[in-house]
Amino acid sequence: MCGIVGYIGDRPAYPILIQGLKQLEYRGYDSAGVSLLGEGMSVFKKKGKVSELENHIGNKKLLATAGMGHTRWATHGEPNDINAHPHVSNNGHLVLIHNGIIENYAVLREALTREGYTFTSETDTEVFLNLIEAYQNKEKLSLADALSMALSQVVGAYAIVVADDRNPDVIVAARKQSPLVVGMGNDEYFIGSDATPIVRHTNKVIYLKDNEIAILDRNEGVTIKDSKNVVQKPHIEEISLRIEELEKGGYEHFMLKEIHQQPQTVSDCMRGRLNNQEGWVKLGGMEEYGGLFENAERIILAGCGTSWHAGLIGEYLFEDLARIPVEVEYASELRYRNPVIREGDIVMAISQSGETADTLAALEHVKGKGAMIYGVVNAVGSSIARLTDAGSYIHSGPEIGVASTKAFTGQVTLLSMAALWLGKRRGTISSSRYRTLISALARIPEQIAETLKVEDQIKYIASEMTAYNNSLYLGRGYNFPVALEGALKLKEISYIHAEGYPAAEMKHGPIALIDENMPVVVVATNQSAYDKILNNIQEVKARKGTVIAIVSNGAKEISKFADHVIEIPETAEPFSPLLSVIPTQLLSYHIASLRGCNVDQPRNLAKSVTVE
Ligand code: GLU
Repeated sequence: MCGIVGYIGDRPAYPILIQGLKQLEYRGYDSAGVSLLGEGMSVFKKKGKVSELENHIGNKKLLATAGMGHTRWATHGEPNDINAHPHVSNNGHLVLIHNGIIENYAVLREALTREGYTFTSETDTEVFLNLIEAYQNKEKLSLADALSMALSQVVGAYAIVVADDRNPDVIVAARKQSPLVVGMGNDEYFIGSDATPIVRHTNKVIYLKDNEIAILDRNEGVTIKDSKNVVQKPHIEEISLRIEELEKGGYEHFMLKEIHQQPQTVSDCMRGRLNNQEGWVKLGGMEEYGGLFENAERIILAGCGTSWHAGLIGEYLFEDLARIPVEVEYASELRYRNPVIREGDIVMAISQSGETADTLAALEHVKGKGAMIYGVVNAVGSSIARLTDAGSYIHSGPEIGVASTKAFTGQVTLLSMAALWLGKRRGTISSSRYRTLISALARIPEQIAETLKVEDQIKYIASEMTAYNNSLYLGRGYNFPVALEGALKLKEISYIHAEGYPAAEMKHGPIALIDENMPVVVVATNQSAYDKILNNIQEVKARKGTVIAIVSNGAKEISKFADHVIEIPETAEPFSPLLSVIPTQLLSYHIASLRGCNVDQPRNLAKSVTVE
């Protein structure tokens, strides 16, 4: 996880690094640190947020024109000042920041200890840094060559930036399975875990590939080498990220802004892919592999967290509309199983960041087993987008709030279009149903805008729910994954324990938990299971649970039993998650903010999970 930023040029590096760290803070906020290189080297680091680092540095005049910065998501060693990055090597000359895990750090640490090295932190990072120093000392190598030698000894994932204060005109970076982007300005160069800290300075970037090393030399520019030391021709891309997209735009939190952006982001996801007037839906990436999709034996949807929930909805969609068997896999499990993957299977990877370590590893694991690999990704140019055979971007724009909202609806919109397209192509849905569903999907953005009007009612319900420490989310059919997602959203940002269940499973266990202290959110917009859900609600009420029901407009019977009824627009059942999830997002947001939680940066979490 963690955010990395680096700069070398003719401007003072510190303001650029701090600004960049704020942009990257969503990736981790256990500690923050910077190192500046000029006349000697200075390191400042502090447990906690970037703002605490800023306070710690105060008004010091920092004019050095090269440096690096890091926001940490701790994997090895607790979040404290000592374990914070940057780390400095034993001889005091090398300084390094790292994103990822050096898996064999314990063996390396022992070997280095025998050679007399000492360690001040508990991190895997410091071990790796001293390994570079050891190579430099023993073999009199340049920093880049010593780094390359050290990398050949490590097992694990990393994005690394390292410098030597004896040669402050050079910064070296390397990556494997953790993202790293180099920004190319005018006689100034940048490094970032993603492009967000770079875009305000230049739109020209190079996405480093696995096992590549980038040497940023103030005088000689940027050189990229592969692991065999062969110089690579860099592929400079122009990106179109706008700075306004990275700001809060008047909302108190990114999460709230992103919830309210959904009418637009869902519409962006459909643009050019769905035409209601002409009655068609198409996805370029799928058309390219049309024959394979049409004859697919099976679709395997893989993801983590919220993306896994989107995958569950994908299962309902593909089976319902395209009649292809689907399996939904936690990427973190898939990567370590011995799965049966055959030619004719399609593995679809779902990831907001396109950098999720488990999803990437799962894809590496299944690659070569004959299946076609398709990406459903938000971040353009990300590792998953580049690893897959083909794919579709969800075009939700940068998602900064750690709790995913607009990326979820983007993923579900994309999967909805994919299932419709495939159903049509395979002849598994009638022309009239195809037409009806296209119209229904086309209306979703305006219906999300309508759904957002329940916010005031939700604020009121939230004020009642803040007092409880547990809650249950129930749903059936297409809304079962929404129940899971609603519960996940609540627990991750408000720290209230929440469980999602298929409504009918409640009686097989969780019903034992229900009493007057258990609020139960029932997602009940399904036409097909409506009566059954009414029964489930009565079962909860009979045990004194508080029921908050999310229903389609006009579903009046429920108000007889539920304590709160949230009415939202009606749509075709396959697309109901795109509307029913909105009140659950708002509910968790308002509960968390009433409880005084840091909504955009919940404890222990980070946005893109680029470590195992
Ligand atoms: N493994 C390193 C640490 O715990 C880096 C973690 C990160 O990616 O932030 O410090």
